[in-house]
Amino acid sequence: MKQGKILCVSGPSGVGKGTVISKLMEKRQDFVLSISMTTRNPRGEEKDGVDYYFCSAAEFQDLITKKEILEFDVYSGEYYGTPVAPIREFVRNKQNVILDITIAGALQVKKIFPEALMVFLLPPSMEALYDRLLKRDTETEDQIQARIKQAEIEILHVEKFEYAILNDKIEDTVSKLEAIIIAEECKYYNQSAILKKFFDL
Ligand code: 5GP
Repeated sequence: MKQGKILCVSGPSGVGKGTVISKLMEKRQDFVLSISMTTRNPRGEEKDGVDYYFCSAAEFQDLITKKEILEFDVYSGEYYGTPVAPIREFVRNKQNVILDITIAGALQVKKIFPEALMVFLLPPSMEALYDRLLKRDTETEDQIQARIKQAEIEILHVEKFEYAILNDKIEDTVSKLEAIIIAEECKYYNQSAILKKFFDL
């Protein structure tokens, strides 16, 4: 259903946001993913314009000054942010969009778009989170330790989100996320077309 919904999927690094989002998008082709800007270096097979728009810190700061970034965060010493123009376009075209985003970033989005759907993914345990970061093999031990420390702080903000899903079994997490979206779509104020058709509201 095209509603121009903004879905923020947040949670600590390594919790599995990327996998959950791509599985959800296989089921829900009415959602597109917002491509973020970052100053961190590409990892492995990552491509510019597909996984991220990779840029320098000076370019990023310039975009902030020009107000071309909807929200941003500094994570592990690197900038991450959502380009504003595509989001404006998605909302205008009633295109649903997913943001893979830090907790602080998601809270900024909520201030601008109070109707954004906020979902927090939790790891089954801190040990499981460490194991996932280790298996991913994209960070050094020091970087993993920094991400774990950051995760411990981030998890304290779960109460600021509307929904929390413990990401243990990926299929269950995706089903729950889909259920949240469906429930959102069933809110009467998201169904103005139906109300109009039957009740001339
Ligand atoms: P990674 O380096 O693992 O790709 O991403 C690090 C963190 O940055 C993840 O928690 C990811 O969700 C977050 N992130 C990715 N894009 C954005 C963005 O546009 N804005 C914010 N605030 N966080 C982002």
